[in-house]
Amino acid sequence: MTSPNTRTRLIWRDGKKVRAHRWIMEQYLGRKLLPGEHVHHRNGNPLDNRLENLQVLSPKEHMQWHKAHDRVPKPCANCGQVFTPTQRQHKRQKCCSPECAMAMRVVARKRQAASSRKSSRRSASGSSKQKKRG
Ligand SMILES: [Zn+2]
Ligand SMILES: [Zn+2]
Repeated sequence: MTSPNTRTRLIWRDGKKVRAHRWIMEQYLGRKLLPGEHVHHRNGNPLDNRLENLQVLSPKEHMQWHKAHDRVPKPCANCGQVFTPTQRQHKRQKCCSPECAMAMRVVARKRQAASSRKSSRRSASGSSKQKKRG
């Protein structure tokens, strides 16, 4: 698992690359940030480094925020309704509900059956479990 927060803007300060949002926050606070102080982008856009968009959070708070907000709504593959996938399977989830996922599966099966029906022949009865193509 890689962190989604890699799209941060880097700037050169004192001969080294620093993360712009951390540097801006340090200027605002007038001190260096501690390792346990994360600078978070309130609106979720890591390139928006306006001071009002920045916020110091503990690593725990920061993680929780992203857990809750890094879910992107997308349209259901079956009914088209926009839904927000659950965190656990947000990459795999294509349908808004188990019913839609089921419907998708049924459609896929029907398609498979339709395409194999053309070439199917009456096979000898008996081995119904092992299906061979053609
Ligand atoms: Zn953040
Ligand atoms: Zn749906």
